[in-house]
Amino acid sequence: MTVSKNHIYLSAPHMGGKEQAYIKEAFDTNWISTIGPQINAFEESLSQYTQTPHVVALSSGTSAIHLALNILGVGRGDTVITQSFTFAASAFPITYLGAKPIFIDSEKDSWNMDPNVLEDALKQMNPPKGRAGNSAHQKGGQANKLPKAIIPVHLYGMPAKMQEINEVALKYGIPVIEDAAEALGSTYQNKRCGSLSDMGILSFNGNKIITTSGGGALLSDKEQYINKAKFLATQARDAAPHYQHTQIGYNYRLGNVNAAIGLGQMEVLDERVKRKREIFNFYKNALTGIDGIAFQPELKNSFSNRWLTAILTESFEQRETIRLALEKENIESRPLWKPMHLQPVFADAQYFGGGVAEDLFNRGLCLPSGTAMDDSDLEGIIDIIKSQF
Ligand SMILES: *Cc1c(COP(=O)(O)O)cnc(C)c1O
Repeated sequence: MTVSKNHIYLSAPHMGGKEQAYIKEAFDTNWISTIGPQINAFEESLSQYTQTPHVVALSSGTSAIHLALNILGVGRGDTVITQSFTFAASAFPITYLGAKPIFIDSEKDSWNMDPNVLEDALKQMNPPKGRAGNSAHQKGGQANKLPKAIIPVHLYGMPAKMQEINEVALKYGIPVIEDAAEALGSTYQNKRCGSLSDMGILSFNGNKIITTSGGGALLSDKEQYINKAKFLATQARDAAPHYQHTQIGYNYRLGNVNAAIGLGQMEVLDERVKRKREIFNFYKNALTGIDGIAFQPELKNSFSNRWLTAILTESFEQRETIRLALEKENIESRPLWKPMHLQPVFADAQYFGGGVAEDLFNRGLCLPSGTAMDDSDLEGIIDIIKSQF
């Protein structure tokens, strides 16, 4: 693979080698369904890896967030907090339930949800429990107007400040759903991302660190949450010989053939994390010292899977110069996520914070981080970037 001839993607699927053997097993036993032994084995593997007792494999990370919110009783008239600096799929499912998202700015240490801004936002909505009754009275019956859930995100694999976020959430009695779609293999205080709060979600979309071509999972320590998710994900069928429903359900289960791909991918997950981190270090060693270029920081007690190497340039113009130079050579790079509070579709949404996320968006760039790239690909990319200075 050479830089000039082939298109280099941001993060292309990278099979480990055993996937087709597992798919063949599924075919040989005719489990071409949304139930089957490969699904069970994939869930078990995710459970062991993340050290989370209960796991349900789903059709996407988006459906996992939708179910998690549903399980927490989010509905019409409710609000849910998430970070503004994220992919839209963190926020879209909130609207599926008729609820409204409230967006929180990032902090500069991890680029994820700022726990201080989160706490300020909650204070403005309602003082901490114990004094809530008083204030609700003063505000004329605005009781229980706190958000129904908080969704922090581990962007590009970097753990959010979960201890602080969990503490604030606990103070206000609000459950936390971790969006770990980009962070399988990352750890925080030596615990796996996705296992750090009430529920966690994962994605196995084609560009994620491992893929089932499309897929996701919901994880929790609480068995009742995952049982409910399984029920809702399979059309909410009551226990009866005929098909009976007392609730609205969904068709959100992962296919068994997709799960077979996941089984093969789980075997190489740690290798992929290792290579992603090598790629990050390769870029960092080569580009450190060049005017203004900085890298997404990794905090003490955090270990990022470095799903995508994200850099911060000096200015929007410099960011664009690099991006366009790479594009000319058929190499994909991408600006960091455009904050949700700046998206036209969320123009009316409430936002708490300053300009951290917006600044990251203006100056930030994700570099090609596919684990199938070799060092000569990386050297080619680095040469192009360096030639712009
Ligand atoms: C990919 C992603 C999702 C959604 O996962 P899908 O499997 O694509 O539905 C959600 N949140 C974040 C931060 C993501 O990167």
